[in-house]
Order: sequence, then C-alpha cells, then structure tokens
Amino acid sequence: MTDEPDAHAEIREAVRRLCADFPGEYWRALDRDRAYPTAFVRALTEAGYLSVLIPEEHGGAGLGISAAAAILETIHATGCNGAACHAQMYIMGTILRHGSAAQKQAYLPQIARGALRLQAFGVTEPTSGTDTTALRTFARRDGDSYVVNGQKIWTSRAEHSDLMLLLARTTPRDQVAKRTEGLSTFIVDMRASLGAGLTIRPIRTMMNHSTCEVFFDDLRVPAANLVGEEGRGFRYILDGMNAERLLIAAECIGDARWFTEKSVAYARDRKVFGRPIGQNQGVQFPIARAHAQMRAAALMVREGCTRFEAGLRCGEEANTAKLLAADAAWAAAEACLQVHGGFGFAEEYDVERKYRETRLYQVAPISTNLILSYLAEHVLGLPRSY
Ligand SMILES: Cc1cc2nc3c(=O)[nH]c(=O)nc-3n(C[C@H](O)[C@H](O)[C@H](O)COP(=O)(O)OP(=O)(O)OC[C@H]3O[C@@H](n4cnc5c(N)ncnc54)[C@H](O)[C@@H]3O)c2cc1C
Repeated sequence: MTDEPDAHAEIREAVRRLCADFPGEYWRALDRDRAYPTAFVRALTEAGYLSVLIPEEHGGAGLGISAAAAILETIHATGCNGAACHAQMYIMGTILRHGSAAQKQAYLPQIARGALRLQAFGVTEPTSGTDTTALRTFARRDGDSYVVNGQKIWTSRAEHSDLMLLLARTTPRDQVAKRTEGLSTFIVDMRASLGAGLTIRPIRTMMNHSTCEVFFDDLRVPAANLVGEEGRGFRYILDGMNAERLLIAAECIGDARWFTEKSVAYARDRKVFGRPIGQNQGVQFPIARAHAQMRAAALMVREGCTRFEAGLRCGEEANTAKLLAADAAWAAAEACLQVHGGFGFAEEYDVERKYRETRLYQVAPISTNLILSYLAEHVLGLPRSY
C-alpha cells in the first residue's frame, strides 16, 4: 500500500522479514499470559534496530528520526507491537542531549550494544496525572547521593529495564518561582535498587503492555546520576517529547495500515448474499475513509520528522502527527472490527487484540485533549485553559 518514494525502503523490507518470524500466534500467546515479547525484543536488539538514533561515536547507527519512524511503523504494519521496546530507542536522548561526558561514555555504548536496557520512564504519578509539575516524588540531596521517596504509576517495561529515567522534585513546588522549576532528572540503576528502596508492582491492563507501579522508599541514587543541572529536569523531559510523539505516531500509522490491509482482504473474500461484502458501499466507505485519514496523518509524521532532523521547531507537527495518526489508527480499527462482523471478536483473527492495543494511543503517552489544548494555546494563541 506504500506508493511514495521511500528513503527507508531497505530498512522497511529488512524489518518486515524479521517480523515475519513473529506472527499472530506468537503475540496471541503472549497476550493470553500478559508475557513480555523477549524473543522479539532480542531479535530487534541484535539486528541493531533499537540503537539507530544513537550517534556512531557512541556505538549506534547514527540515523535520523525518520529511520526510527520507518522501523516502528513497519513493526506495527506487520501486526507486531513496538511498545515493548520503543522507549529503548528514544529515552537515551535525554542523556545524549543533557548528560555529562562521563554519563554518555558509561551508558550510551552499552545501550547501543543492547547490554543495557534504558526503557523505563518514570514521570506519571497517581495524583498528578497529566499535571506533571504537580508530581510529588521527592529527591533530597544527602552527601554524595539523593534520597528518593514517592511513587510512579504506568511506568512501562519497569520489570524489563536495567535503568530508569526518573523525574522527581528536588525543590518543593512552593519554593520555586515557576512550577516547571525544581524538578530534576536521574538515571536510576534498577538492578542495584530493587529490594534497596525500589519496589515494582505490575498492573494488569486491557492489553499486554508490561506497565507497572513503582515505589521509592528512601532509595539512594548517587549524585553522579543526576542528568544535567538540578532543577532543570522538566525542560530536559520536554526536549524529548517531540521525538516520542513522532515515533508513537509512526506506530499508529503502522497500525492503521495493518487494520486496513486486513479489512480489504476480508471484505474481498467474505461472501454474504452471494457477493463479497466489500462490494457494498456501506462496507467500503469506512475503510476508504480510514485509509484517507492514514495517508494525511502519514504526511504530517513525515513533515515532523523532516523538521526534527533539520533541527527546526516541530512541536506543532509532532503533536498534530500524534493526534491525527492516533485517530486514523482508531478509525481503521473500528472499520476493521465492523467489517469482520462476529469474527472480529474471535482471538484468532488478531483484530480484537490490535483493537485493544491501538486504543491506548488516545490516552498515552499524551491524551488527545491535551494535544488539542497545546495546539489551541501554543499554535493558535488562545488563552491557556488549565
Ligand atoms: C498503558 C500505559 C502506559 C503508560 N506508560 C507510561 C510510562 O512509561 N511512563 C509514564 O510516565 N507514563 C506512562 N503512562 C501514563 C500516560 O502518559 C498517562 O496515562 C496520560 O498522560 C494521561 O494521564 P492520566 O492517566 O493521569 O490521566 P488524567 O491526567 O487523570 O486525565 C484523565 C482524562 O482527563 C482529561 N484531562 C485532564 N486534564 C484536562 C484538561 N486540562 N483539559 C481537557 N482534558 C483534560 C485527559 O485528556 C484524560 O482523558 C502510561 C499510561 C498507560 C495507560
């Protein structure tokens, strides 16, 4: 279904071949047990796909974000799911942009080799939700370390990560001029911390996502693990968000492609009243509309990636891409389930699983409402609504 000239055709083809070893049965079995796709993640790691954004000097492939987007889109377009490991691609960006030379040397080559997993991102808390600066987890400086107390929620892949990037308050909110100040970013070595102040509790969700609650109880984090300057962590996290939005949008494009391919194949094949159901406009139109939505969203993802790679501002494009792509994926999912009639609900068609998986993107990593608020305020100049 791809027709534009594609600079990443070879990468897509190679990823497609890798994904062919992980068919629907593989994902279905994991989904049933809520198990982590270890073999899939290992294959991606060994093939080097998770380190494409790490510069060559630090052991990665040094490719641009459009290559990473092509990889994730293809993973999703083949029916696989990148959520188990996509963060390994981009969380390291905070160390790359804001870490010390010693941190870059200590972590990036190992992350590039797949010897270290940095794919847990501790930002969201149960009481603060989307209002990130209201987070309560506190890191108090004590000699050569910080003592961390608090709780995170929805820390995905926490059980399958060696390191976590943690956002915590280091100055109480009532002692800073702006609420975005006084937050700091830390690299937490989860292997050393488990049982020494760090507890992980998995949350069972409607899809297989390996997400967790994480508790900090007097956890000591070496001061050397502070990223950048104390108090500037919120800015560092924001810097990584455009990349995250573009890559998640690419996954949504992949989902939309997968659903539409399934819809078309089934609508051609399934005969009711003596003719293919796809001959009915009532069946065709939702599929065609979702396809059109996907194509428009894909252009916005591409535009965002191009601007990102050129070092231009891309907040509007990254947010718009995420919004449109998540909507396109959801429209394609709706059409696909409907086209399959009763069979859409049967596990063996994979439609119901992908349907559950793609619903997440209306809420995480940022909800549709908050993107609309961003566009209204920062692009259109309307008053801040919250
Ligand atoms: C499966 C899963 C994985 C996740 N992984 C991670 C992770 O790895 N790391 C991490 O830090 N977080 C993670 N998250 C958290 C995710 O980023 C948040 O769930 C998301 O940002 C929404 O926050 P919330 O759930 O607290 O919702 P709330 O902030 O409580 O919002 C609830 C609803 O109200 C709406 N709302 C809130 N405020 C406004 C407003 N001002 N205007 C209009 N509407 C508003 C929201 O759009 C939302 O629909 C994950 C979440 C899920 C479900």
